Amino acid sequence: TKRTYSMNQPTELPMVFVVEDEESFIEALDIGLKREGFRVSVAKDGAEALMMFDKINPDIILLDVMLPKVSGTDVCREIRKKSQVPIIMVSAKGSEIDTVIGLEVGADDYIVKPYRLRELVARIRAALRRSSLTPAEIDEVGVGTVSIGDVAIDPEQHVVTVRGVVTKLPLKEFELLYVLVANAGRVLTRETLIDRVWGTDYYGDTKTLDVHIKRLRSKIESEPANPTRLVTIRGLGYKYEKMSA
Ligand code: CA
Repeated sequence: TKRTYSMNQPTELPMVFVVEDEESFIEALDIGLKREGFRVSVAKDGAEALMMFDKINPDIILLDVMLPKVSGTDVCREIRKKSQVPIIMVSAKGSEIDTVIGLEVGADDYIVKPYRLRELVARIRAALRRSSLTPAEIDEVGVGTVSIGDVAIDPEQHVVTVRGVVTKLPLKEFELLYVLVANAGRVLTRETLIDRVWGTDYYGDTKTLDVHIKRLRSKIESEPANPTRLVTIRGLGYKYEKMSA
């Protein structure tokens, strides 16, 4: 396929609009998301969220279901009347999420408290990637799914299918494979891969990347010792081979 994915960072950091009334969550999200490379704006009730939305023009909204003044589901409906901005709904119990899904308020994804920041960030990134695709690209690949040859990656479900077999990968292996496959045919330097997958979480040991590459090969290559998909480009980095489907 000729489809190309742009994994380039926008010049301006993406802004997450956090709509949340619990102070402890607001504080943790503000610190955690900024550390992950996002800008953060906060609204503490539904009415404030609707008032702020037009002014701040966020890239994605993290929207709590139970909010004072105007509920998260009503905020979601109102915003959907005028914008296709990605919205991730957040709730304290799974049953609230069931209600949100049942009401079909137009959210893109759902997450239940307590969640791990890493999981949230992975979902935010997946939603941002999906929203950057053109409708034609979405038609071609299905929402968010990237595939080359017999390896298919679904960033929403965090599922990789290799030769028809569904494989669950640890988060960093998953993100590494996603970046490589989405940029298939291009050489990615070690620095680029480390920056995209680990960012500021990458501490010291330069072997971490190689260890992850080795683990990925054991899962996707038919002959891991003699890789034909995830190849080393000596002195430069790694490349995922573009194969015909
Ligand atoms: Ca709440």
